[in-house]
Amino acid sequence: MSEGGTGLGLQAVAARATELLSRDGVVTERARLRTYECDGLAHYRVTPGLVVMPETAEQVAGIVRSCAEHGVPYVARGSGTGLSGGALPHAEGVLIVTSRMRRIREVRADDQRAVVEPGVINLDVTRAATPHGYYYAPDPSSQQICSIGGNLAENSGGAHCLKYGFTTNHVVGAELVTPQGDLVTLGGAAPDAPGYDLLGAVVGSEGTLGIATSATVRLVRLPEEVRTLLVGFGSTDQAGAATSAIIAAGIVPAAIEMMDALAIEAAEEAVHCGYPAGAGAVLVIELDGAAAEVQQEYDEVERLCRDNGAFEQRLATDPVERALIWKGRKSAFAAVGRISPDYIVQDGVIPRTALPEVLAAIDELSGTSGVRVANVFHAGDGNLHPLVLFDETKDGESEAAEKVSGAILDLCIEHGGSITGEHGVGVDKAKYMPRMFGADDLDTMQLVRCAFDPDNLSNPGKVFPTPRLCGEVPGRHKGVHPAQDAGLAEVF
Ligand SMILES: Cc1cc2nc3c(=O)[nH]c(=O)nc-3n(C[C@H](O)[C@H](O)[C@H](O)COP(=O)(O)OP(=O)(O)OC[C@H]3O[C@@H](n4cnc5c(N)ncnc54)[C@H](O)[C@@H]3O)c2cc1C
Repeated sequence: MSEGGTGLGLQAVAARATELLSRDGVVTERARLRTYECDGLAHYRVTPGLVVMPETAEQVAGIVRSCAEHGVPYVARGSGTGLSGGALPHAEGVLIVTSRMRRIREVRADDQRAVVEPGVINLDVTRAATPHGYYYAPDPSSQQICSIGGNLAENSGGAHCLKYGFTTNHVVGAELVTPQGDLVTLGGAAPDAPGYDLLGAVVGSEGTLGIATSATVRLVRLPEEVRTLLVGFGSTDQAGAATSAIIAAGIVPAAIEMMDALAIEAAEEAVHCGYPAGAGAVLVIELDGAAAEVQQEYDEVERLCRDNGAFEQRLATDPVERALIWKGRKSAFAAVGRISPDYIVQDGVIPRTALPEVLAAIDELSGTSGVRVANVFHAGDGNLHPLVLFDETKDGESEAAEKVSGAILDLCIEHGGSITGEHGVGVDKAKYMPRMFGADDLDTMQLVRCAFDPDNLSNPGKVFPTPRLCGEVPGRHKGVHPAQDAGLAEVF
């Protein structure tokens, strides 16, 4: 029988953790436990039952094995920057924090590979690879603080994923502690192992299939030339049309990022990035590659922007200007705090060609509801980040913001897109999964989860609105689900 719910299981795991870890690697005092009560989505808060900070894969395996033995749920946490509540702790479970697993085990430049531990900060991989002439391409805006383990679990993206692909295209191998506490290796240095792509299943699984204790990542050669262009337009329609025209011309820039007037206003106030005055939208376009190719693409991009109404085009002439252009974009989420006390960072995807239509519909939603929405997003791959602004202290504003936020996701689905592009489902969007997937699709996904984690201990309550119990018959659940009874899940 599971002891997890009784607290006895948790005590047993705490005792085992004390044997396995150094003294300060086990946190039990309530005040310190509260430090970990949320991730980047701070309106969900749960104080974990226990926090452990292992330093080795074997220690992670030992703790997970103890959780399995005593039926105690656990959640992995990297840097806690997730925006979907994926690392939200379990009140009667263990939070396994990887911040002491920060070794870069190997940089093999000749092989274009690096082997890193899960707590390694994203940007540190690039810092380690640069002296060898390489870098790590996936670059979430949080790259100065987020961890590779979190990136792997969320299949994180970033500005440069338009040309180079998401995390899943750059993780070629991983060491995983399974929910049974076994340490296994998935993938490896050579491409295309036979059999099912289990690594592919684990990348993006949001910590529900086990805990990654190392990742082998692909390194990309530093380009010969990089050009960063800031382009001002009168409207998001024009900027969207320019984006489509660039891609239709067969050019794949390293990045095409868009910000609308409200997002520009916020960024200006926060970091004084000097974006074109009076712009209804700006594009940050980055071209990289061989110098001759970049020159040719630059001429074409410049012309296409002009043809689509650009009123100002500014090419960064040195690294300082380039950094300032990027600073405006990369600080945009935080900057919105300057113009609104509260906001929801939404994350949806649409086909790029639907950009003008969806942006117009978001504008209309904002107009009719009176809820302001700032748009900042990866325009090149149609990954929207509408920032829905509200003031929690004012009656009804949070409910109205939540409603607009949900309606934006409906728009994305209606236009053939998705409820999340890179921030994951976590706890926040589990309720939207049935809007996008039918019962059979959800059941099939749950069968995969059950194959890895039959006892539903690895990050339970995330991704799926109603967890399937393994051994259940597929199809729509009838009556009250046992997990509902236990207070672990809600049906939407
Ligand atoms: C200002 C800001 C900007 C952002 N910009 C971007 C962006 O451009 N693109 C983007 O994709 N995201 C972005 N994010 C979201 C976030 O940074 C990413 O999701 C990131 O990958 C989370 O990493 P983390 O280490 O903080 O993970 P956490 O928040 O700690 O965890 C995230 C998820 O990963 C799981 N997890 C963590 N470590 C492991 C492990 N070792 N094994 C298995 N599961 C694990 C957790 O259980 C949780 O489900 C942004 C966030 C902020 C605050």
